[in-house]
Amino acid sequence: MPSSPPPAGPPPAGPPPAGPPLAGPPDGRRIPRFAGPDTFGRLPTLDAVGRAAVAIVGIPFDSGVSYRPGARFGPQAIRAGSKLLRPYHPALAVQPWAVQQVADAGDIPANPFSITEAIETIAQGAAELLGRAGHLIALGGDHTVALPLLRATAGRHGPVALVHFDAHLDTWDTYFDAPYTHGTPFRRAVEEGVLDLDCSVHVGTRGPLYAPDDLLADHDLGFATITTIDIAERGVADAIARVRARVGERPAYVSIDIDVLDPAHAPGTGTPEPGGLTSRELMAILRGLDGIRLVGADVVEVAPAYDHAELTALAAANLVYDLAGLLGLQSLRRAGG
Ligand code: MN
Ligand code: MN
Repeated sequence: MPSSPPPAGPPPAGPPPAGPPLAGPPDGRRIPRFAGPDTFGRLPTLDAVGRAAVAIVGIPFDSGVSYRPGARFGPQAIRAGSKLLRPYHPALAVQPWAVQQVADAGDIPANPFSITEAIETIAQGAAELLGRAGHLIALGGDHTVALPLLRATAGRHGPVALVHFDAHLDTWDTYFDAPYTHGTPFRRAVEEGVLDLDCSVHVGTRGPLYAPDDLLADHDLGFATITTIDIAERGVADAIARVRARVGERPAYVSIDIDVLDPAHAPGTGTPEPGGLTSRELMAILRGLDGIRLVGADVVEVAPAYDHAELTALAAANLVYDLAGLLGLQSLRRAGG
């Protein structure tokens, strides 16, 4: 790594916010990145800064999985994978930590022996955090956690357009008669009225299903779908255009199940499906969503026990960085009027 400062990139889009200087991570050229705090991106804690534009919060819960367990260790793995992040995001031309206060809110502890109690705890914890933070980026945890996060987000913004990156639909009804699992959160979200269905979309679906009816049932719920094969045949730009057209001006929640990536890019997950997106494709689609009205996000299903060389944790950490960059650009646009 060079020890001299990098050449200046393009300036961020707009002026930095007025007011006292924001608290960011220690300079990685002065304090080695492997030596800093254990927060995401070595950012300050939410308790240290009081309020934040964006809070990154861990949700170490994986009692809703149907196959391999282990995503309860996702938040600490993603935080460990975030140490290498640097302050400037050249693809988005923004410094995510400098244009808005971003902080690590720690973890929301949830009962691993009661899914229904855990969902209540997470929804309450997220709602409380939204009293101190403008937006949440949650680190899962299995995909069950998206339901309480959507409840809290809809409590603030009303029904949201869901942009759901996942190999799976996650709109099944029950497993073993259990209604709350990592394969059912978006069916429950539809029933609870927290989604704007005319504007919601799955991206990156693939892999075997139980029956043809699975796709029909999902379609009947009101979701649009952009499959991995669609993206392979029509390209990233087409996927971006379709998501943007679908979401429009609605408040949008982005939920990223890391298994949307090919297992070559994200082996550390509970229900891997071959034939998935590359990290580069997913990042390109995500960055192409700049300008949608992003109100919240999660990155879930990172299970580090199956990971190799931090491939999955690094990908997840960089996706969180992309999301923080999108929120940073949004805050600059808002400040600029
Ligand atoms: Mn999945
Ligand atoms: Mn999922």
